[in-house]
Amino acid sequence: MAIKKDTAVTRGGRDSVRFEGAVNPPVYRASTIAFESVEDLDAAWARRFDRPYYGRYGTVSTLALEQALAAAEGAEHAVVTASGMGAIAGTLLAILRPGDHLLMADTVYQPARDFCDTHLARFGVATTYYDPRAGEGLRHLIRPETRVVYCESPGSLTFEVQDIPALSRVAREAGALVVMDNTWASPLGFPALERGVDIAIQSCTKYIVGHSDAMLGSAALNDRGLYERIKETLCSFGYACGSEEAFLGLRGLRTLSVRLERHMRNALEVARWLETRDEVERVLYPPLESDPGHALWGRDFTGAGGLMGVMLKPAPAAAVRHMVDGLSLFSLGFSWGGYESLALVTTGHIRRTAVPWTYSGPVLRLHIGLEDPQDLILDLERGLARLRDAQAHGKG
Ligand SMILES: *Cc1c(COP(=O)(O)O)cnc(C)c1O
Repeated sequence: MAIKKDTAVTRGGRDSVRFEGAVNPPVYRASTIAFESVEDLDAAWARRFDRPYYGRYGTVSTLALEQALAAAEGAEHAVVTASGMGAIAGTLLAILRPGDHLLMADTVYQPARDFCDTHLARFGVATTYYDPRAGEGLRHLIRPETRVVYCESPGSLTFEVQDIPALSRVAREAGALVVMDNTWASPLGFPALERGVDIAIQSCTKYIVGHSDAMLGSAALNDRGLYERIKETLCSFGYACGSEEAFLGLRGLRTLSVRLERHMRNALEVARWLETRDEVERVLYPPLESDPGHALWGRDFTGAGGLMGVMLKPAPAAAVRHMVDGLSLFSLGFSWGGYESLALVTTGHIRRTAVPWTYSGPVLRLHIGLEDPQDLILDLERGLARLRDAQAHGKG
């Protein structure tokens, strides 16, 4: 029976008969997997991708999460790692060789950018950053040695939506693989593989874990050979994740669908209110009708997370700090995707080389959590009052 994603997310990775009726696969803490005979042990090597073989290759718990994530992504295979960066680094290292060329969206997560500029450069891989809005125009940047087109949509901090089907067509013609960081929308908000992506990466630390209490990453794909290569690379680098974390990832995944819907509903309410405010220059949130990426978002996405950018009208840094420091329902922190709201001042942290970020005013990043959105709006309204106040009194 062909099942839909919500059903896949609910069923994936479960086996109550095997676990004496328990609905959830228990946490199997294991490093050693013990075998009964030399023959069994030798045979296990051939099945190491599918059955417990040695802790680093996976335990019952991590394999269950891999199964469930593959189901959520609509993929044949998924590999889980100790963090989202582990999935990004491990995937790129598994695919790229010295002399290869990588096309990277200018708006990718900054640590991924740093990874390309330092480690991949050291290994002889050349990276070109491209305009995230390139679409078919990416063709002009393709070289004979281009091996990967890497996307992230919407982009980190600035939220440009990418035309993934168009980029995938260009990549396919060139014989390059499309790797996408699909963390913002999660597998439920953007069906990456259906849109032409070859390898869909998640920082499961965000919406999949969903409770800000574990680090995990994943890569999902259909190609068996490529899957084995990525898994083997991750094992060589020792990027395996622990069973306890895998359990938390599975626990979070079960409720992802309802959480994501609420994150988006709350975020839209807050974003629409922010748009009406004089202190706000622009809200960067693709589900908003006014967002330049809204049409693409509407065409390709099936949902959204609650993460957005807010461009404030020019104001001194000290006034912005005064606004943000006094927020009571928004903590200051990096790892969004949990149930709680977060704020971050991103002014000065937006690094771009293909399309320079020219806005000189302050920029915030907000993660809208599962609190009552009217309470969040009130908190932000007071914040904006502090901003005006600080400006009027020349603080900063
Ligand atoms: C957080 C994040 C990552 C890295 O994930 P970790 O689990 O923190 O390593 C990668 N990509 C995006 C878009 C992220 O937000």
